[in-house]
Amino acid sequence: MPDVKKFLCVSCPVGCSLSVTVEGTKVISVEGNTCPLGEKYAHSEVANPVRTFTSTVRVRGGSLPVCPVRSKTPLPLSRVFDVTREVAKLTAEPPIEVGSTLIENVCGTGVDIVASRSLPKR
Ligand code: SF4
Repeated sequence: MPDVKKFLCVSCPVGCSLSVTVEGTKVISVEGNTCPLGEKYAHSEVANPVRTFTSTVRVRGGSLPVCPVRSKTPLPLSRVFDVTREVAKLTAEPPIEVGSTLIENVCGTGVDIVASRSLPKR
């Protein structure tokens, strides 16, 4: 029995509202997209939704008490809570270089958590 799912396409700032008819994990039709990227986004949201993870980590002895971090590449949406818990355990030691890996292969996702900015020692 087909089901209609609603998504907001985040592939560009327009933010089209998508109505996606699915049967199980199979996309039957996509409506509401104004370009082909919306259809591609709908397929990926149904098959394997991913998100770029952003947060902050504590820093000991740095010029700031926290450092912003992000996932190097998008990671599975289903693992975001696990990753949030893992990142919350970390206390980073400066100096930190922008783009440096702070957690490798976080929660076995194959994705690294990297620094979003440089942070010198205090
Ligand atoms: S469907 Fe196309 S125009 Fe609409 S939000 Fe997605 S990328 Fe942008």
